[in-house]
Amino acid sequence: MEQTLRALYRLQQIDLELDDLEAGSGDLPGEIRQLETNLAEVQSRISEHESTLSTIRRERNTGNEEMQELRARALELNERLRTVRNNKEYDATTTEIAAAEERSKDLGRSLSTLDDREAEILREIQGFEKSRNEITATLEDKNETLNSIHESSSDEVDEYRAQRVAALKELSAELLERYSYVRTKHPDAVVKVRKGACSGCFRAVTPQTLVEMRRKEQIFFCEHCGRLIVDEELADTVEV
Ligand SMILES: [Zn+2]
Repeated sequence: MEQTLRALYRLQQIDLELDDLEAGSGDLPGEIRQLETNLAEVQSRISEHESTLSTIRRERNTGNEEMQELRARALELNERLRTVRNNKEYDATTTEIAAAEERSKDLGRSLSTLDDREAEILREIQGFEKSRNEITATLEDKNETLNSIHESSSDEVDEYRAQRVAALKELSAELLERYSYVRTKHPDAVVKVRKGACSGCFRAVTPQTLVEMRRKEQIFFCEHCGRLIVDEELADTVEV
């Protein structure tokens, strides 16, 4: 049983070390996820704007074609005006010229609006591209940092994992289940009893339990917090 108690306490120390190594990267993974979301967002705004830009340019091409047709038609009509044979023909032609001019004016206004809209969209795209480049650069930096943290700690992690496997062999499935359960509430599931108190919740352990613990024949739990408690002297002989 003494060996089991020691293995249990060792497992706890190993798991705390592993917790620390994982926490060593801080909130970097979270920051990276956030940046990836931002990047996807800005990419999608760029795509939307590019698609709007194609629509604007298509409309402008159509408008320019119509403008050319109108100019040709105006020339043709002015030519005809010189050869009209009567008032009726003259009136009809001038009416048509007026209509063509009116349409030209409207079209000119539309085309100028399209130009303004295009310039605006291009400006916005430029802004988005700047953001995209900034996010991409930050993301690269953070990924690099995270990778170097992983690389430098991976040997240590491997070492602790090997030790963990060895410690697990000393423990029953039932005890491991209890340990894992307590770990969901308290990362330090196995604690020493120091000066008669559980060093997890700092509440007193009954004198009867203290006496029985010294026999190292049984596993004890703190009746207040549920942590597994081990004798301080025994715990101090455990190294990881
Ligand atoms: Zn306790």
